[in-house]
Amino acid sequence: MPELDGLAATEAGSYGGNVQLIEEAQALISQKIELPSPPNIVMRLLEAVQDEDSCFAELGKIISADPSLTVKLLRVANSSMYGFGGRVKNIESALARIGINALKNIALSFILVRKLQGDSSSVFDFEYFWKRSVTTAVAAKMLAPLVNYDSDDIFVCGLLQDIGVLVFFQHCTDSYLEVLTLKNSTKTPGHIIERQLLGMCHAELGGALLKEWGLPESIYLPLFYHHRVDCVPDRGRKAVELLDLAGKISAVYHSSQTRNNVAGIFQNLTDDYGLTEKEIKDLIDTVATRANEVLSFFNMPGDAIRPFSEMLQEANQELGKLNCSYEQLVMDLKQAKDESSKYVGKLIDVNKKYRELAYRDELTGLYNNRYFQDLMEKELERAKRYGHALSLLFFDIDYFKEINDNFGHLAGDEVLRQVAGQITHIMRGSDIVVRYGGDEFAVIMPETGREGLEVFAERIRRGIAEMVISYEQASLQVTISVGGAAFNGKNPQICKRTMFGAADKAIYQAKGTGRNRIHIVEI
Ligand code: GH3
Ligand code: MG
Repeated sequence: MPELDGLAATEAGSYGGNVQLIEEAQALISQKIELPSPPNIVMRLLEAVQDEDSCFAELGKIISADPSLTVKLLRVANSSMYGFGGRVKNIESALARIGINALKNIALSFILVRKLQGDSSSVFDFEYFWKRSVTTAVAAKMLAPLVNYDSDDIFVCGLLQDIGVLVFFQHCTDSYLEVLTLKNSTKTPGHIIERQLLGMCHAELGGALLKEWGLPESIYLPLFYHHRVDCVPDRGRKAVELLDLAGKISAVYHSSQTRNNVAGIFQNLTDDYGLTEKEIKDLIDTVATRANEVLSFFNMPGDAIRPFSEMLQEANQELGKLNCSYEQLVMDLKQAKDESSKYVGKLIDVNKKYRELAYRDELTGLYNNRYFQDLMEKELERAKRYGHALSLLFFDIDYFKEINDNFGHLAGDEVLRQVAGQITHIMRGSDIVVRYGGDEFAVIMPETGREGLEVFAERIRRGIAEMVISYEQASLQVTISVGGAAFNGKNPQICKRTMFGAADKAIYQAKGTGRNRIHIVEI
């Protein structure tokens, strides 16, 4: 088995930021690793499409000689992605419907996935890998027209974006298992560990490999740079950005951690591309439906991907159940208390501990979202009953992902803890601070109207911006964007949702107008 250990001496980032990066990576790989050769049919397909005069017939001939490929291509041509008009029954009609370049790309996808499909008994989870890749590919293809990106190649780019991971795994298994272990234990992004341990990341390996195999630049270039957005040449930039966005949508379905980032996707697509909320919701849901369809073409087993709106609905129901069972628990405790007075003291303690545990965020020690939901309900009722003011403030750390990406997940955790500490220090005793989720926090401020909210929001914004967080050798600084909703207590129609919606919108405004800012609305 070829060893990549010799490459470990290469410092992360030592390729610099120029267009020769790919050649350098290719040279480095060829010294150290025996790359897999492209399947014969890939070369023939690529050659065929180069000859414009004969490619139609030639492509048909090459594909028809592979019966399982032919069946799959016909299914795609008749699927909801292309299936308008009657059914197509042969490759020539499929070519006419889909177009030469797109058909060639779909064929390449099938062939390359077949070659790299992997073994279900392996420690590497191939099924998860391909599910994620297919979802990214589908998202990229669906996003392309919405963001005015015109290329048939984006589907293959998304699909093969991470094939470097497979090549690493299949050709340097031991070193790569070490990468995976470290990735899990340190929560550091894979590409950073790959660079440290193997001298290059999967994006560079995959990009160089596809170039070697003769795939066009429009495929290998974005792929090569997808973890080096800062170095990508202009001609590949839009594709890299598109792949990044597609990756985020895919992560909604395949990564529990990034599920919180749906708000980020919404913001990105609204601010940068002018999509409406409904268009974005539909897009995220349709990605799941289409990905299921495409996965079935690839004969990928496993559970279907469920549309996000469905998952949300179920999560809400589960939350409801959880509340019920919590209430049940408290009732049981009460009953036990009545039955035996000698356990009274103990029961009170247990009860209190339970409540605390159920209402606390583990990482920061702040109250959690569940407590927030309960308390907000009560405070709002109180404000309405007595006609008193109530303010709600949301804030979200700016560019927090970069802290994780650049310094590791543990550094990110430390930042969250210290931000929580600082806020607790700044706030008044009557205000309640909660960790809303991810890097988002909320403060409920009873008896506080717009003016008070403004003063407090600025105090928090400044208090965080002035903090210096020490983590190992690094000194980190972060800013936050703050959105607030001030309710004057007069309108009985105002409900929890209205307050959340207003504060949420306000935070998007603060983000959209440059971050490290405050936006406040009165309701
Ligand atoms: P923006 O300011 O525009 O919102 O950008 P951002 O980079 O902060 O993006 P966003 O708020 O969407 O991302 C939040 C990140 O927080 C992404 C997620 O991986 C990370 N994250 C969520 N929970 C935790 C956690 O408990 N610990 C750490 N270290 N990171 C977390
Ligand atoms: Mg953030």
